[in-house]
Amino acid sequence: MGELGGFLKIQRSPVKWDDPAERAGRYTEFIAERPVEEVQQQGARCMDCGVPFCHNGCPLGNLIPDWNDLVYRGDWQNAIRQLHATNNFPEFTGRVCPAPCEASCVLEINEGDAVTIKQIENTIIDRAWAEGWVRPEPPEQETGQRVAVVGGGPAGLAAAQQLRRAGHAVVLFERDEAAGGLIRFGVPDFKIEKRVVERRVQQLVDEGVELRCGVDVGTDVTVEELREQFDAVVLATGSRVPRDLPVEGRQLGGVHFAMEYLYERTRATQDEQGVVPQVPRPAPRGISARGKHVVVIGGGDTGADCVAQSIREGAESVVQVELLPEPPSSRPDDRTPWPLWPAKFRLSYAMEEARALGKGVQNFSVATLKLEGDADGNVQTLHYGQAEPAPPFAAVPGTEREQPAQLVLLAMGFLHPEQGLIDGLGLVKDPRGNIKAGAYATSEEGVFAAGDCRRGQSLIVWAINEGRQAARMADRYLAQKAGRRARPAALAGI
Ligand SMILES: Cc1cc2nc3c(=O)[nH]c(=O)nc-3n(C[C@H](O)[C@H](O)[C@H](O)COP(=O)(O)OP(=O)(O)OC[C@H]3O[C@@H](n4cnc5c(N)ncnc54)[C@H](O)[C@@H]3O)c2cc1C
Ligand code: SF4
Repeated sequence: MGELGGFLKIQRSPVKWDDPAERAGRYTEFIAERPVEEVQQQGARCMDCGVPFCHNGCPLGNLIPDWNDLVYRGDWQNAIRQLHATNNFPEFTGRVCPAPCEASCVLEINEGDAVTIKQIENTIIDRAWAEGWVRPEPPEQETGQRVAVVGGGPAGLAAAQQLRRAGHAVVLFERDEAAGGLIRFGVPDFKIEKRVVERRVQQLVDEGVELRCGVDVGTDVTVEELREQFDAVVLATGSRVPRDLPVEGRQLGGVHFAMEYLYERTRATQDEQGVVPQVPRPAPRGISARGKHVVVIGGGDTGADCVAQSIREGAESVVQVELLPEPPSSRPDDRTPWPLWPAKFRLSYAMEEARALGKGVQNFSVATLKLEGDADGNVQTLHYGQAEPAPPFAAVPGTEREQPAQLVLLAMGFLHPEQGLIDGLGLVKDPRGNIKAGAYATSEEGVFAAGDCRRGQSLIVWAINEGRQAARMADRYLAQKAGRRARPAALAGI
């Protein structure tokens, strides 16, 4: 445990972010680093509860009290060993996980008092990289079996790494020009710099994973080739079909899905940094917020990333609208009591920036009525009304208003994975169109599924967990197929 009674003496010191007005002018990460001694002090606040709820709060089951204690004692090398035992990519989660562990920390019963678990996690892994403790871990023995992992997001990367370390020959197929999925192209650089993703991808390659980018499985590699050439297949294709807005004017120029804009901005940032991809990128579509009045429809994290990108690009103004009413400012104990994730209002980092620059607002209970364009067919105005507080959230008569809108970004969530490959493989789906794979095995023998394509659009921490679990099930299947004993030790920690 940390210091005996440490939580009584040491206050939680909130994680510091750089000044919002300043950071909104750049693309580098904005979470301020903290001196190591301060991180150790924060680790000392861990009470090592008899029943630590943070374990369950963390979808990966990270051994949080163990590494809090190791950090407090300055044993950073064992801290990273413990952390890697359950999490392949702590620098991803340490940067962008919403930290459900902190919501379920026993100290969080006094709201706002949890141990700063996420920052401790990030400090451990950043230090491990800096010290050179993160090295390739190729397998000692080869099984001679081949596995295809389709999709290079966090789920696919975790599955590929686990399966390779178990001794299988792994080919990771990725449609984009680089691996990483949404953490590479959707989540902006200022939340996680892409060098952080790339050094992990390089670790996989150095361990022997064969990475084939620019390959769309189902088109460039057929389903038949996939089944013929590999002993097992893990699908990790994400949940990529966005929810649309069926209103008048949807077809106007300047109305785009959030992901179209975010991918384009990330690629533009890469170009500015002189990053040359190994396979060519798609030509830009010219979606730009510069000098425009921007409306982002959807009040979630994807919408927030659109707001922050628009500001950095030089938007004239940004309004983020949400259909649902504004959540309460503190944990609603009747709906989401501790240790559940609290359904409360959180000012996003992006809206903090927009407010600091006097460029944006966030409005709740907004029902979009229609979009209106100019003579050239480009959107100019959003017509909206105040939404009723309950489904179907129709506009209250007499509340109709207008908002200038020269770029409209639709960030209303995702429906399900793309269906082509799933149907091509003949897989059973759940009622929402996700791959049905209760224990990660699909309805087709030797085909497994992990991440958003199985559970629906979710979180990076869940994707990593799913990749690990699917790898374990695939490894057991391969062992059985080859008449070998399954080797749980080869897939340590799952
Ligand atoms: C804008 C945005 C911001 C987010 N921010 C956060 C955040 O801050 N924190 C957080 O925890 N979560 C965040 N999320 C959610 C998180 O990114 C996802 O839950 C996570 O990336 C899912 O991982 P995945 O590997 O299942 O899928 P993805 O990351 O979607 O990766 C799937 C990959 O499969 C590839 N692919 C698909 N079909 C094929 C095919 N046929 N052939 C070859 N390749 C294929 C795709 O190109 C893609 O690279 C965010 C999501 C979005 C959209
Ligand atoms: S992965 Fe997320 S939930 Fe788990 S310990 Fe890290 S920040 Fe907490």
